[in-house]
Parts: sequence; structure tokens; C-alpha cells
Amino acid sequence: MSNYYSFGLVGFPLEHTFSPYIHTRALSACGLEGEYVLYPVPPLPNGTSEICNLLSNIRKKEIAGLNVTIPYKRAVIPFLDELTSEANHVKAVNTIYTRNGKLIGDNTDIYGFLTDLNRKLVEAYNLNLLRSSIDQHALVLGAGGAARAIVYGLLLSCWKVTVAARSEHQAAELVIDLKQNISNDYLNSIPLNKISIGSLLSEIILVINATPVGMWSETQASPWPEGLMLSKGMMVYDLVYNPQVTQLIQQAHTQGLYTSGGLGMLVEQAILSFIKWTGCIPDKNSFYENMIDNLSKEIPFSGEK
Ligand code: NAP
Repeated sequence: MSNYYSFGLVGFPLEHTFSPYIHTRALSACGLEGEYVLYPVPPLPNGTSEICNLLSNIRKKEIAGLNVTIPYKRAVIPFLDELTSEANHVKAVNTIYTRNGKLIGDNTDIYGFLTDLNRKLVEAYNLNLLRSSIDQHALVLGAGGAARAIVYGLLLSCWKVTVAARSEHQAAELVIDLKQNISNDYLNSIPLNKISIGSLLSEIILVINATPVGMWSETQASPWPEGLMLSKGMMVYDLVYNPQVTQLIQQAHTQGLYTSGGLGMLVEQAILSFIKWTGCIPDKNSFYENMIDNLSKEIPFSGEK
């Protein structure tokens, strides 16, 4: 069935995902037949044979492409033949496919984040992220797979970036990896606590939560240090999309700040993965709008008080 596309998502756990919803609608929008299957594989080493089987099915073209999520974005790399330059820079993969018989690891989170952030910054400040020469400084909370994509995207866009993480070792590794092969090396890390963040706050115009803190089912938690105010004029972008209104976004709203949840990035990264797998572009603007509209109705507003 060469015209039938089988895609999927590998990770663990997968209960929170909206990817099947987005990809099955992208298939319909392009007039293609196919499916998007969830592959919950327990973390390595237990899941090794299942990961190998899935990758072998991509090689045999029984699966057209896979998305990769927690905890496999970095763990899957040794099993692949090549990485795109983006995936190689961030050392994290969220999309897999074959090209000329080789298994390729790619990263569409970078594009998804930058596209959506740019849209939101233009809405908020009339500021074109990718063309602005203003000296902007962003604070990224967390140092995992998603943080790597976000930091790389911001450095490419000439931003200054500080990573605040609870694991100093993980943050230091991120800084070393991402400073390689990029001319913008204004990147450092600090501990994720009130004193370190507080002393930097007057310089920061954008705070990005790249930790899972606040996501369903622990919606009352916030990654922001207790007792610390956000600054006036700052924008808060939370990668968490379920709930749409996280505790952190709620805090920012209370201070009258401009905010964005992670839904826009989720849709943008999915569209790019879909294009890489099928070569087909669902009518991008209307597809994005429809998805945001529909998913907003699907996701419970469990964080909103
Ligand atoms: P990950 O690789 O597991 O990294 C998570 C990071 O958050 C790690 O640095 C982790 O530190 C830190 N962290 C976890 N719990 C914490 C806590 N209680 N306090 C402080 N730091 C904490 O996960 P990921 O792939 O980067 O994903 C992070 C979040 O982004 C998830 O919610 C994911 O759903 C979301 N995401 C959204 C999109 C989108 O399109 N909107 C795309 C990708 C990811 P430790 O190692 O010390 O635990």
C-alpha cells in the first residue's frame, strides 16, 4: 500500500499527546490516506528491542516516519545513521524518516518554536524576532531536550540566552554542546532559584518554561521561584500546552503580562514533520488556525481558576 502513510509517536508515557489529532487532520487536508499510531515504549534499557523494531520498520518503509518525545529525544540518537545539522547542533531528535536508505534524525521543534514565538512577538510588541537588531535577553527554564531546541533557535536569532536549571550538570552540558559551531555564544547558565533569577531579572524580556512543571495532572505547580515577581513588560512563553492556562501563565496574567502557551509550537513542529514525511503541505495558514481553534476546545482548561 504505497499510498498509505503510517506515522507514529514513540515515547513514554503518551497519554497527554495531541499529535494523532493533528496528523490525521493533516492527512485529510492533503487528501492522503494513513494513520498515526502511538508507541508507548518503556525507557531504555527495557525498551531497546522495541525501539530497534520500530526503526527497522522505518527502514523497510512499513512506517513512513516517527515523532519522538520524552524520554527518547536524545536516547534514540545512537540508533540512527545520520542527523540533520539542526538535530546535530541540539543533540536532540523529534522526527525520524529515511533518505536514500539512511535513517535520519531531525528536529522540527526549533522551527516550530521560532515560527510561533515570532508570531506572538509581532502580536505583542510588533517586533520581528528574526530581523531585530535590538539586544534581547531570554531566560529559559529547564535544560532538557526541548530547552536545547529553544536555546539554539534563540541563539540563531541573535538573542542572549540564560538557562536556569535545577541540575547544574545538565545545564553545563547544554551550554558546552550549543556553543559549538555557532557564532553567537552569548549563552550561560544559572541555578533555578529566587536569588540567581532575581539578580538578572531587569535584563530579561522573555521567559520560556521548557520544564514539564505545571502540566496536567500537576496543574497547580509553577517552575517560577516562589516569592519572585515577574518584571513589567516581559513576555512569558510556556511550552506546556495542557492545560492551556498554566499556573505560570496565570501568574503572568495577574501582572498584566503578554503570554503564550505551547499549542502554537506543537502545531508548527507537527506541520513541518508532516511535510518532511509526505512532501505535502496542508494549506499552512488555515490549517494552523483550524488546529488552534479545534484543539483549544479539546484541551480542558484545568489550570484556569
Ligand atoms: P525533558 O527532556 O525531560 O527535560 C525536562 C527539563 O525540565 C529537565 O531539565 C528537567 O530537569 C526539568 N525539570 C523537570 N521537573 C522539574 C522541576 N520540578 N523543577 C525544575 N526543573 C524540572 O523534557 P522536554 O522534552 O525538554 O519537555 C519539557 C516540556 O516541554 C514538557 O512539558 C513537554 O511536553 C514540553 N514540550 C512542548 C513542546 C511543544 O510543541 N509545545 C515541544 C517539546 C516539549 P531534571 O533533569 O533535573 O528533571
